[in-house]
Amino acid sequence: MIDEASIINRLRRVIPSHAGPSHARRRAALRIPIGIGDDAAVLAASRGCEWVVSTDSFIEGVHFLARLHSPDAAGYKALARATSDLAAMGATPRYFLLTLSLPAQRAGAWLDGFACGMARAARRFGMRLVGGDVSRHSSVAATLTVIGDVRRGAALTRSGARPGDALYVSGELGAAQAGLETLRREGARASARHAHSYSLARHLSPDPRLRLALWLARNRLASAAMDISDGLSTDLARLCEASGVGAAVRAASLPLVREPGRVATPRDAAAALERALDGGEDYELLFTVPHRLASRVPKRLGGVPITRIGEITLKRKLVLLNADGRVQPLRAHGWDHFRK
Ligand SMILES: [Mg+2]
Repeated sequence: MIDEASIINRLRRVIPSHAGPSHARRRAALRIPIGIGDDAAVLAASRGCEWVVSTDSFIEGVHFLARLHSPDAAGYKALARATSDLAAMGATPRYFLLTLSLPAQRAGAWLDGFACGMARAARRFGMRLVGGDVSRHSSVAATLTVIGDVRRGAALTRSGARPGDALYVSGELGAAQAGLETLRREGARASARHAHSYSLARHLSPDPRLRLALWLARNRLASAAMDISDGLSTDLARLCEASGVGAAVRAASLPLVREPGRVATPRDAAAALERALDGGEDYELLFTVPHRLASRVPKRLGGVPITRIGEITLKRKLVLLNADGRVQPLRAHGWDHFRK
């Protein structure tokens, strides 16, 4: 029989929480005096650190499609998306809460797959489940509240970019969008190729740039940072708005995703540029570095490429500098729930 308690127990068994082998429990108890199972959790703060907290929805039909996304991919992605916001702040992920609504017919094998995917993400990012809530609903809706910590005063924000700062992105842009297009074209069977396609992997199991963000925070190099969840054109506009500046992006410098074994036509190139500017869900890091510190930014960190794509400008406008010398306004055409 499926009831609330059995759903919670299954989630607890699979997803790392404060329970577990006794040695792990003792270690975790130092940080989680009271974990999942009581009315609320009690968490011990590390000395000299501040909490960083964020929440993110993951809704069937909006953020994932049950016919294209396996329950494992949905579980992994739900936590990865939320954790990317902690990375964007330069925080170390620690804990999360899961609020899950689902239909009764999804409370069996589907839920097991979802929990496995979420457990995989939790282990990868070093996070523990400390609480949540389950309820019955006509479709799946998950809300992930994530908690991390950062050395006092060291959090990266969107608002510190200044004119003249160099503008960078991690990874390759447009990868997740290319992966989504493949998935839509080929259906669920494309998931089987998951391991062999960079863009499919970026779409199905995004990897928040935790290591790079921590490195930037620790070395106090970034003047501003955020993660790219809705597309470069939209997220860069948000960063510039928060900082009260503009930006010039060089089209030829953008790290476009390339699928191996394909000869690119001019139309492919145009599509790749559009994906890089407006494609969502890359969860790459967008950050600025004062000009005098730019030489300290490596070309790669932990295997992840870092590319300088332009500069922050005094004039509060976003422009795209094309290879042929044309300058065009860079309009926000990324993802927006309320603008279609
Ligand atoms: Mg974000």
